[in-house]
Amino acid sequence: MSEHLPDGVERHAFGGDGDGTDRLATRGEPVYGEPTDDEWRAWDPSRSKLGAMLELEMQTDLAGDDTVLYLGAASGTTVSHVADFAGPTYAVEFAARPARDLLEAAASRSQLFPLLADARKPDTYAHVVESDVDIIVQDVATRGQARVALENRRFLADDGRLLLAVKARSEDVTRDPSAVFDDVREELEAEYEVLETKSLERYHADHLGIVARPL
Ligand code: SAM
Repeated sequence: MSEHLPDGVERHAFGGDGDGTDRLATRGEPVYGEPTDDEWRAWDPSRSKLGAMLELEMQTDLAGDDTVLYLGAASGTTVSHVADFAGPTYAVEFAARPARDLLEAAASRSQLFPLLADARKPDTYAHVVESDVDIIVQDVATRGQARVALENRRFLADDGRLLLAVKARSEDVTRDPSAVFDDVREELEAEYEVLETKSLERYHADHLGIVARPL
């Protein structure tokens, strides 16, 4: 087990899944056809930006029992892993189709609260999400990714962390990704201090992982 992993995330080898290398894993019901054993389910970093950030040893500060606000939950691939080890996990998704699968992932996870809402309109879920969450995870992959992070800053504890996956092509398909990342970073810096950035390229083309804390 690596030291940077939160409690409840471990490395396990899954028999019959090829090379027998240790893979990130959490304990819970499978969600997306990932390899499992009696107890653990593999967390695939090529299906999950947060998984990639952990695999690339970014300093996420994620800990077991953290309260998490997850923006862009889709059908629950990543947020289900988070809810396997974290505390209350609020999962915001605005598309009805993936949200149906998200409800299914939540059925076996009492800590996972799906919210069919637009992450650009935090007023619509402010009555549900507790303030002072420890971690915001954001993976919305739409234009205006920095703005979404700024608008949700209000939920984050002063010593909390924003774990943001930026998809360059969602901002502008024609621009050089590094120019897009610079712009997103600059916009974020109105309300966050960026602590670490790392390319997620090994698992996700043209994505940057950012760890930031609120100013
Ligand atoms: N984070 C997911 C995972 O790892 O399992 C994948 C997320 S997918 C790349 C991006 C998701 O963000 C899509 O399901 C999309 O509908 C959602 N999304 C985009 N903009 C949003 C917004 N403003 N509010 C809520 N969800 C949004």
